[in-house]
Amino acid sequence: MTCGCAGTVPVVSRAEALSRLNRLPRAQRHAALQAALAWLVARHDGLSLYAGINGRPYAEGEAAAIARDVPVVAELPCPFATVTGECLVGGVPPSRSRRGPYGWLPTWVATLWARDDYRELVRRGAVADAKVALLSRNEGLTEGVAAM
Ligand SMILES: [Zn+2]
Repeated sequence: MTCGCAGTVPVVSRAEALSRLNRLPRAQRHAALQAALAWLVARHDGLSLYAGINGRPYAEGEAAAIARDVPVVAELPCPFATVTGECLVGGVPPSRSRRGPYGWLPTWVATLWARDDYRELVRRGAVADAKVALLSRNEGLTEGVAAM
């Protein structure tokens, strides 16, 4: 199934994610959160690093491993396409005008709506580190730490 955001998982700023989530009808929020958490823990082929990096700088080698995995994540289908048949972003082209940090939309959903659950999943290594990495606007890996 495709959705209004070109079919692949969107990269947005945290502020933009918050703005979009606030516009989401209340009745759809539970389904959206469940879709985000399911996406985070899904073992997608091609993702290699599950070190549970959370709130600390990347160690030597980790940034390179994450950078190899980021393009894999970028090709994954948008997990919100199946929630209601339309997407969280509602077909509105993503405006990337706001300042960063940027990250995957489902990661922001989890951090904004289920922060404790999210942090526990990451700590346990249930989430590929490329899915929680902070990104630049063009999906490049930024130095620093994972989204919290
Ligand atoms: Zn979508």
